Amino acid sequence: MAAAPRYGVLGWPVGHSRSPAMMRAAGLELYQRLPVAPAVFADTVGALGPAGFRGANVTIPHKEAALALATSATDAAREIGAANTLSFGEDGSIAAENTDAPGLMAALGRVPASALVLGAGGSARAVVWALTRAGADVAVWNRTPQRAKGLGARVVTTAIAAEVLVNCTSVGLHDSSSTFKELPICADGLGEYATVVDLVYRAGGTALVTEAERRGVSIIDGLEILVRQGALSFTLWTGAPAPLEAMRAAARDEHAGSRHG
Ligand code: NAP
Repeated sequence: MAAAPRYGVLGWPVGHSRSPAMMRAAGLELYQRLPVAPAVFADTVGALGPAGFRGANVTIPHKEAALALATSATDAAREIGAANTLSFGEDGSIAAENTDAPGLMAALGRVPASALVLGAGGSARAVVWALTRAGADVAVWNRTPQRAKGLGARVVTTAIAAEVLVNCTSVGLHDSSSTFKELPICADGLGEYATVVDLVYRAGGTALVTEAERRGVSIIDGLEILVRQGALSFTLWTGAPAPLEAMRAAARDEHAGSRHG
């Protein structure tokens, strides 16, 4: 009998990841944390296929390196410049995909006319790519404006009105009180957006999501974004539809007892 396929999440650190609970709940029983330091990333990933791994999710700081070592990549991964999903073939091939971008669009469930993206790091690249490719008018604000220039969207220096606001900075991860000091928005200004998306997640929710919800704004939190990208990875590996409700419940249950995302 063939050994059961193995899966995992590559990161450094990766101890906080919700992916193992979520993916095991989806039915990938042999899904584990794979804490891998950058210096040994390429060698370790090269050994995963022969060790029985069929797939791996990739998180900070390895998304660019994952794309670089893959033997093939989708246009989305190439154009974004990062991969969050690797698939290992029995012939030694490693295929790279980016499910962060379609995961965001799946969570939104529509193409907004306009969006303001906060941040210009790895996740912002995927979000801006997804939204502009879908046809939204996208503006980007970043603390370091220079870094926002290569994202292929209009760079703004203050918050502007838009249908959707997406936080792709790490602000709010460790300190809720920093949100409205370090981002160019105030809590009362959140009412200008139809939907607020926060990629950050932490136990108890983020200040951005809490304040948006308080003002009747529709919200998508970081756990839903995590679930959506994970669901697409699951389908890529198994060919089956992902059990979204089971994944959500697992991601949120375990999250309830954790310090942060
Ligand atoms: P990254 O590449 O390190 O980028 C970090 C971004 O945050 C940069 O734009 C940076 O601005 C900005 N930033 C950091 N500290 C700031 C501060 N004090 N004030 C203003 N801006 C600040 O990180 P990433 O991969 O894009 O991830 C960003 C966040 O999204 C992380 O918290 C991550 O956990 C979360 N995330 C969640 C999911 C999910 O599935 N829910 C997926 C991916 C990422 P500068 O350019 O000026 O430094």
